Amino acid sequence: MLDILICQVLIPHSNEEMDVGVENGFITYLSIANNQRPQAKQIIEGNGHVLLPGLIEPHIHLDKAYLLDHMKQEASTLDEAIRLTGNLKKDFTKEDIQQRSIKVLEKCISYGVTSLRCHVEVDPIVGLIGVETLLQLREQYRDRIDLQLVTFPQEGIFKMKGTAELMEESLKMGVDVIGGIPYNDIYSIEHLDFVFELAYKYDKPIDIHVDFSDDPNQLAIKDIISRTLAYQMEGRVSVGHLTSLGSMPYDDAKKIASDIAKADIHVMALPATDLFLNGRGDKEKVRRGVTPVRLLLEAGVNVTVGTNNIQNPFTPFGTGDPLDAALLLAHVAHMGTLKDAEILLDMTTVNAARALGIPAHGIKLNHPADFILFHTKNRRNVLLERPQRLGVWKKGKQVVDKINSCVKA
Ligand SMILES: [Zn+2]
Repeated sequence: MLDILICQVLIPHSNEEMDVGVENGFITYLSIANNQRPQAKQIIEGNGHVLLPGLIEPHIHLDKAYLLDHMKQEASTLDEAIRLTGNLKKDFTKEDIQQRSIKVLEKCISYGVTSLRCHVEVDPIVGLIGVETLLQLREQYRDRIDLQLVTFPQEGIFKMKGTAELMEESLKMGVDVIGGIPYNDIYSIEHLDFVFELAYKYDKPIDIHVDFSDDPNQLAIKDIISRTLAYQMEGRVSVGHLTSLGSMPYDDAKKIASDIAKADIHVMALPATDLFLNGRGDKEKVRRGVTPVRLLLEAGVNVTVGTNNIQNPFTPFGTGDPLDAALLLAHVAHMGTLKDAEILLDMTTVNAARALGIPAHGIKLNHPADFILFHTKNRRNVLLERPQRLGVWKKGKQVVDKINSCVKA
């Protein structure tokens, strides 16, 4: 007997109402809705509402979320944001990081985020207290949301001595992914070599803040492509921002996009931060400063979209709802058609899952039962209205339940 049967729901890329059944945390029944319903311990009438796979937040910083009240000064450039946050970081404590991280996690769960990748700062300023705190939260939240942790050298690896050793220590503690930030270090090439060598040694995926500029000459992505191929890490490398690509001549950008696709590098667009901090030097024809999403999609690149920062010097906005990031990207990347809405929903679900190495995500047989029931009967509205999440299930366990208050009427 099924544990749960959710009847008559609209799932991605189908106009038929479907019945979705769950057993032991997995989707074991999937059929066009009909009168011969299998037996289930719990039956939920979907009434034609939209059921999507769990949202996946592929790039977020929990340890430096919600810093606006701590700031004595506002930032308007990337350098200022790094400097101000570096100063605030001196006063971070485990309790403080834990409190702010939990605030984000609880919100993300309520929005229907079932997996999240978080960059955690590791350097002599903050030491390993961010890693210790997030490792503990990863355990504490295991039943409600999957956390992947990235060891992140925000202050540079060679620029801040001692960071390399701390990164390696964090991997021994259980961090999942190796981060990098070549644009904020003395030697970009040596920085990337260190990251790829560490990934090789510990057999971990890589997620790099690749460039964060509207300078078309920042070409670290080329060095990442060549190393991804040399280390045979196709499909295991992600890059965030990649904004300089948007300032390049079209043909040059197209060639690089094609090379990114060949190396199967995942691209994470981070529109809120990029819009806020890029284009600052342009007095007229102000550039959007966001990676050229349509060009990348046309080249066959796996593109996803992330929140990045929430209410701190890098981004004084943000809620942690991946659909907010997707809607912002829809505006910025000229993605307004019905087809675009479906693509954007894929970007926040199945594309993000692929980037994070989550092997089975989506409303399919034998996939984990991670999904969201929305209070709308129209998939495009999921993006346009960001409606109430009536129910959220993580591995078949319901972690959000607003069904009684919204649907039964
Ligand atoms: Zn970031």
